[in-house]
Parts: sequence; structure tokens; C-alpha cells
Amino acid sequence: MKTREIARVVRAMATSDGAGVRLRRSLGQSDAARLDPFLMLDEFASDDPDDYIAGFPPHPHRGFETVTYMLAGHMLHEDHLGNRGDLRSGGVQWMTAAGGIIHSEMPQQESGRMHGFQLWINLPAREKMKPPSYRDISPEDIPEASFDGGRVKIIAGAWRGFTGAVHGISTEPLFLDLALDAGATLRHEIPPGHNAFLYLWDGEATVGEGETARTLAAGSAGLLGDGDLVQVVAGDEGGRFLLLAAKPLGEPVVQYGPFVMNTRKEIGQALEDYRAGTLAKEAEKGV
Ligand code: MN
Repeated sequence: MKTREIARVVRAMATSDGAGVRLRRSLGQSDAARLDPFLMLDEFASDDPDDYIAGFPPHPHRGFETVTYMLAGHMLHEDHLGNRGDLRSGGVQWMTAAGGIIHSEMPQQESGRMHGFQLWINLPAREKMKPPSYRDISPEDIPEASFDGGRVKIIAGAWRGFTGAVHGISTEPLFLDLALDAGATLRHEIPPGHNAFLYLWDGEATVGEGETARTLAAGSAGLLGDGDLVQVVAGDEGGRFLLLAAKPLGEPVVQYGPFVMNTRKEIGQALEDYRAGTLAKEAEKGV
């Protein structure tokens, strides 16, 4: 059994998106900071409404999936098809934008804490122009388990006999929310060949074994090399992190903002469809 080592650390950078929501971006801060099929990971965490109140007014997506996981707060999601959904503390929205969606994500609170994550996962070429779809997962539908030294919420993939809330996605994503007690050790198998990373948002964690082990500080993504399993040892204050893995696509990635396709021509088409008001219509036809 080979333990995966940290191949690269990507420290989250402060940035803003939407109409001025302050967030911290690790994956996706540059084209080089991706891990196929993961395109981007943002963390938003603030007690100050000025940091989030402007929200994300209507904007398009094409060619990939967005996964929003709320730890605290309340956002309302609405799209051009009339779908509405509440994103509340502990819930997940798994949106397969595919051929096209125009949506908004707006805070439903004027004070208090907003904390969560948005992850972008690429789609294989053959699925990029499929009709869009949603999985709205309420907190009680996310399996939870305790183990020696910690707790886990299984959003996607499998954990020791538990099946996550989301499955049936062709990149076979693993998405775990983990809490380790001070000094506790986690060992978890990840299929060789799948790309994996963890994002530590609180505490401290040492990843890997022996001389190559590296300690991550909060607000860092540790991109793992290949192997059979990941080992994480929490620091003196414990560690809170997301563990993510998926099957790489190995296809060209051409991104222009919220459009992620395989060629520049397809990006040109997405822009043309968006300007013509047919972005979402093309998707509904499933062309
Ligand atoms: Mn969006």
C-alpha cells in the first residue's frame, strides 16, 4: 500500500466574485492551479454582511458542475427555468450546469455568519451539452459516521460501507467533510489513478508518512500524488477539512470565466449563445 504524499500546496488567495462576495480561492486561482477534473474551490466565511450581502446575481455556466456546500447561512438559488431551492446550513446543492444554466445565488440573511464552499468539477466532453440537472440535498440526507478520533459527513462517494448522498456521476467523485480530534489519525483508501486533494479550513494537519510528510496550515489545499491511501494526522487543535478525489478526464480544458469547454471554438459558441439569449435553450434541446 502506497501512501499519497503532498505534491503541491496551493494557499487560498483572497478574491471576490459575484457582485462583490469576498472569498478565498485555492484551486482555480490560475489555470495551472487545477487538479483534473477539479477546476476551482472557493471558501466563503464571514460574520460581516458586507462581505456577502451582494450575492451572486444572474450569471451563466456551461460545461461543468458546481457543488455548493453550506456550513452556516442561508442562500436562495433561482434559475432561468423557474427552479428555486434553499441552501441552508449543512445542505448541498449539486448543480450539473452541462449545456447551460443562468442562475442567481442570493443571501437570505442580513446579518450573522455565512460559511460554505463552492467546488467546480469538470464534465467529460460527451456530457458537456446535456440538459442541466440538480440534486438538492438536505442536511438530514447526508450520511454521517463517527470513527476513532473523528467524524465524517459523506457528501459523495463511499466511506467504510456508507454510500454518500450523491452518486452516479461519471468522474466518480469522493467528497468528504472531516473533523479530526487533536492528534487523531485518519487513513482512507483512494483508488490509484484518481486525483485527490484536501482543503484544510481550520486547525492543522500533517499529510503523508515519514520524511515526506508535510504540515498544512488552515486555508490551504494539499494536492496529493498518486498512491493507494491518504494519511492525515491532526495538530494540537484538531483539523477540519474537505477530502476530495475523482477520476481525471484527461481532456483539453479551455475556460473563459463561467464556461469550461474543450476547444476555443466551443467557447466562442457559448459566448454567442449567451449573447443571443439561447445558451440555456441549446442545453434544453440537448444539442
Ligand atoms: Mn453560479
